[in-house]
Amino acid sequence: MIFENNLAFARQMDQQDPLRELRNEFLFPQQNGKPFIYLCGNSLGLQPKTAKHHIDEQLSNWHNLAVEGWFEGKSPWMFYHKRLKELIAPIVGANPQEVSPMNTLTVNLHLLMVSFYRPSGKRFKIIMEAGAFPSDQYAIESQVRYHGYDPKEAIIEVAPKAGEHTLRTADILAAIADQGDEIALVLFGGVNYFTGQWYDMPAITKAGHTAGAIVGFDLAHAAGNVPLQLHNWDVDFACWCSYKYQNSGPGGISAIFVHEKHFEDKAMNRFAGWWGYQEQERFKMAKGFVPEVGADGWQVSCTQVIPMSLYYASLRIFEKAGFIEPLREKSKKLTAYLFYVIDQVNKSLGEVQYQIITPATEADRGAQVSIVAKHNAKEVFNALMLNNILGDWREPNVIRLSPVPLYNSFEDVFITGEHLMKISKELV
Ligand SMILES: *Cc1c(COP(=O)(O)O)cnc(C)c1O
Repeated sequence: MIFENNLAFARQMDQQDPLRELRNEFLFPQQNGKPFIYLCGNSLGLQPKTAKHHIDEQLSNWHNLAVEGWFEGKSPWMFYHKRLKELIAPIVGANPQEVSPMNTLTVNLHLLMVSFYRPSGKRFKIIMEAGAFPSDQYAIESQVRYHGYDPKEAIIEVAPKAGEHTLRTADILAAIADQGDEIALVLFGGVNYFTGQWYDMPAITKAGHTAGAIVGFDLAHAAGNVPLQLHNWDVDFACWCSYKYQNSGPGGISAIFVHEKHFEDKAMNRFAGWWGYQEQERFKMAKGFVPEVGADGWQVSCTQVIPMSLYYASLRIFEKAGFIEPLREKSKKLTAYLFYVIDQVNKSLGEVQYQIITPATEADRGAQVSIVAKHNAKEVFNALMLNNILGDWREPNVIRLSPVPLYNSFEDVFITGEHLMKISKELV
């Protein structure tokens, strides 16, 4: 696609965008009476306008029905999660039975590792990406210790080559082949939070299985961002938070995926709770845990209706968009346009002041563009903020900008480039 660095072009792209009306579904933060250009959906998605309605509905149910709300009303709380499962499944490429909203992300990572990290004999290692999100590092280390192993021996981190920022698929696959029958689990991110690199998930899954290992993914930065086919790729398990690209609000509910091939595995460990018990028999309050079939069998506590109602508000917008494929089509163009605009800024400055560390190949990235600013990084970031452009800052000098197809426009991207150019010229 041939891009142009001017407002008329950006507006024409917006005119041709079939999803352009969706931004009206969201509330934008403001500064001095003007909405921000919000490029931080990788960290916390915007609030759907309908969020209040969906919470209010549950507050009314609570008011009017109180405890009867579990079984009475238009949408009894007992089954509330089922309406979410139907809408979550197409976003991650799963059957509704394979997904379930529950808890928060790191908690789910622990619960799933209880089931899927089963070290025995010489097969006890975990392969992961170097520089994974800290919560994942801590969760994995503590799980390894819990099983009595030394994280230094049990955790194999795949790192970029010297001087590079992102991983080469060949290096990931080689590390898996190399450790072979010593690997119990391959546990990777889908999209890396720092670089925005989208890993080759089908290839990693296949290599992990060839080595005889279980393969799981943390999809915090991938779910709702890039198209996933968890079922067809034969991924064993996954989990994600919904407050980033899926706009469910701060501390929003997480969701899990468990491949249906594991549903019959009776020997699998779980940390069980009453809500994972067979739904039909749950209120018999019998002794001896019998899990519900499917991902719901991993539920521990009763349905978190209020946070789920927020996730539901956002999922309805995904449904309106036609789920992930139309969003991905727009996202590819938006992100490519941001690459182009940043390149134009560098050209105009006569040097690479903004080095993009996110992969240049479309298939290896989602919406996020991570930029290393050579000079005055923090000042540039602050000046963007003063100009109503809200990105995301990572020490020591990385600015992450994520044009989200649900609510960002080509005009947003163009204006960001204009300000970046102006700010850089003033600062240098
Ligand atoms: C955002 C993120 C988290 C956050 O975990 P919470 O338990 O929701 O606080 C964890 N892991 C990854 C990879 C993330 O990107």
